[in-house]
Amino acid sequence: MSCPVFRFAPSPNGYLHLGHAYSALLNAQMAAAAGGRLLLRIEDTDESRARPEFLAAILEDLAWLGLSWEEPVRIQSQHFADYQANLGRLWEMGAIYPCFCSRKQAGVLTSRDPEGQPHYAGHCRGLTANEARRRVASGAIHGWRIDMARAADPEAAVWGDAVIAKRWVGSSYHIAVVTDDALQGVTHVVRGKDIAPATPLHILLQRLLGLATPHYHHHDLILDEQGRKLSKSIGSRSLRQLRQEGVSAAAIRNQLGFA
Ligand code: GLU
Ligand code: ZN
Repeated sequence: MSCPVFRFAPSPNGYLHLGHAYSALLNAQMAAAAGGRLLLRIEDTDESRARPEFLAAILEDLAWLGLSWEEPVRIQSQHFADYQANLGRLWEMGAIYPCFCSRKQAGVLTSRDPEGQPHYAGHCRGLTANEARRRVASGAIHGWRIDMARAADPEAAVWGDAVIAKRWVGSSYHIAVVTDDALQGVTHVVRGKDIAPATPLHILLQRLLGLATPHYHHHDLILDEQGRKLSKSIGSRSLRQLRQEGVSAAAIRNQLGFA
């Protein structure tokens, strides 16, 4: 049997909080128990939100917690060509189509996806292949959507024609995470239950691209005293704030249930 490969894949959109620490420590613990490897990947394809200072802080906070990982760290914004290559394959097989609608123009249905966003009504799915090719070749700004009816995947269907690559960005979380997990040989994806609804979509993309599906484990989320999911928007204290207040890394590991 080959060596198990785990990864922790934060987005540098803010400082890490206890929820991230739990996920990272759990990945490290499971990797060690399995005699496996631990990778760190920075998911910064959403350039409107990612900031270099958050990336530096992530590395510092994880090291402070006592974690180590293999180098080099994969930084997604340096690998757009890999995501484009898979988008090209998916387009060739008719699994995705370019969508030229702006957010405002995109007609929607009354049904909603697991994130609460209304399903796209499918306007650009109806363009002829020639018209779609002509507009892409002419440089018209477009994102990419999955043709969910054609995929005929009952579990992923809740997403409707999900955006697989965003306008202007050339990628999105879904195509990037599936591409990288495969390229990096990840065998075990350990991440929060908040991402569990996206997993059927990731498995669908793996099936279409002929990629192996890793084992998925979705862990409970760390909640605050009010039972809310930790986040910057509700003012959850970051690891660095806790550190500045004098809390030790050992105390945090203990609090989270890691000896
Ligand atoms: N980058 C994602 C996040 O920070 C995690 C993705 C994953 O673990 O698959 O929420
Ligand atoms: Zn469209």
